[in-house]
Amino acid sequence: MARSKAEDIPTDAMFNPEKYGYEECSHCKGFGSSLKDPEGVDTCTVCGGPGLVFNLKLTKQETEAFEKLIKERLQIEGCHGA
Ligand SMILES: [Zn+2]
Repeated sequence: MARSKAEDIPTDAMFNPEKYGYEECSHCKGFGSSLKDPEGVDTCTVCGGPGLVFNLKLTKQETEAFEKLIKERLQIEGCHGA
């Protein structure tokens, strides 16, 4: 289950990535675009733009707990209706 689309990341996680199990994208260093990507590609191919990636080093339990937190937060922020 890849969590890399910008719309899947709560706004609050942009400010507190570690609170939601995210870490800075090592490909673009959090800028959202990278010179390592092909010419004409202005969005980071790893994180898809937000500059954050879900921390894949977490255990399954930790991941599930964060996923739950993210889902709840997205509902609070109203990005994803019912
Ligand atoms: Zn990136």
